[in-house]
Amino acid sequence: KAKDIGGNYYITFAQSMNDVIIERMQIEEQLHNAMENKEFVLFYQPQYDIMENKITGMEALIRWNNPVLGHVPPLKFIEIAEETHYIIPLGKWVLEEACAFMKKIQPINNSGLTISINISILQLLQNDFVDMVLAIIEQNNLEPSLVELEITESILMESYDIIKEKLNKLCEKGIKIALDDFGKGYSSLSYLKVLPISTLKIDKSFVDSIYDDSGSNSLTEHIVIMGRSLGLKLVAEGVETKEQLDYLINHKCHKIQGYLYSKPLPEQTIIEFLEKETVLDI
Ligand code: C2E
Ligand code: MG
Ligand code: MG
Ligand code: MG
Repeated sequence: KAKDIGGNYYITFAQSMNDVIIERMQIEEQLHNAMENKEFVLFYQPQYDIMENKITGMEALIRWNNPVLGHVPPLKFIEIAEETHYIIPLGKWVLEEACAFMKKIQPINNSGLTISINISILQLLQNDFVDMVLAIIEQNNLEPSLVELEITESILMESYDIIKEKLNKLCEKGIKIALDDFGKGYSSLSYLKVLPISTLKIDKSFVDSIYDDSGSNSLTEHIVIMGRSLGLKLVAEGVETKEQLDYLINHKCHKIQGYLYSKPLPEQTIIEFLEKETVLDI
């Protein structure tokens, strides 16, 4: 009997492995022409300052709608795009698109709303990355300090010196750097002191653990305290409930980003959202 179970398990495992491989191959194949077929769009998720009770900017998040695969979430294709280096042209498109959006909203952007753009290590490691970013910002007549690049901790492990030099150059021009998904995976606090990081984005897993009895909610509190003592802006990711909001206010986290305030919105909808100047009931 045990043998039967083992055998079934093997077949199921092999089939699901097969599914994963087929899906991966399909994504890779469909990615090929996705940019020229204009299958990507950017959505924008507002960031809200809970100390000052106002919206301060938004994060650009890529969306892919493919005729064969339908909507493919970034968590499924970004990694593949990195492995195939497709992320280089795609990441450039994201920068151009997000900056063009900022130019478009300039007439209604009197309060200096910022744009946060996710970038991949592979982009950062390109020789022309810094010049490319500066050129896109200039082409769109943007104030560099309104542009923030989000990087993830894991990417910092490699090529540390090169990354540090590039981030310093960007920072000298006024561009902001955010450390994304902080607390997830490797966390080296030493980066925070040495790299020109101005914002720490606290990973959603910490926000989820607020009031879940796991005891890790005190970690959120300590990340805020530490971040503040280093002079960083703190953004809590994936805030969904009033309880989480209250906790974050009480512990003096600066900003939130999450469904509680707004989901990521398509371009036209975010423009309407900005015009409404939606305020949270705090
Ligand atoms: P991220 O940069 O940490 O972005 C935050 C993710 O959390 C987004 O997922 C957002 O939709 C989701 N989120 C925000 N608030 C909530 C909430 O209250 N509840 C829940 N359940 N989720 C929330 P998304 O858009 O699926 O993106 C996933 C990841 O893909 C991003 O994580 C980022 O690492 C990557 N990504 C997205 N767009 C780009 C891009 O243009 N370039 C690169 N390199 N990576 C991107
Ligand atoms: Mg991000
Ligand atoms: Mg994140
Ligand atoms: Mg993430």
